[in-house]
Amino acid sequence: MADPTTQTCPICGVQIVPGGLGGDRVIFSSGPQGTRSKLWARVCQFNKQPGCINEQGKSETISSDDYYKDAPSPAPE
Ligand SMILES: [Zn+2]
Repeated sequence: MADPTTQTCPICGVQIVPGGLGGDRVIFSSGPQGTRSKLWARVCQFNKQPGCINEQGKSETISSDDYYKDAPSPAPE
């Protein structure tokens, strides 16, 4: 069952969990969790529809790691 604080983007269908100090976490339908910038890089930028709750993702720094490839990465702090 989803956490009540979890938001689901009605456009992208991806869940965003408010994460406090470490920033929000994004739960993809498959693969590891990511960040808002990763969600933007992978999903929202392609949908680009009003109502997307991750509009702010595009204004965050998007690293090359945010784009699709799912290479192993260090565990977040
Ligand atoms: Zn979205």
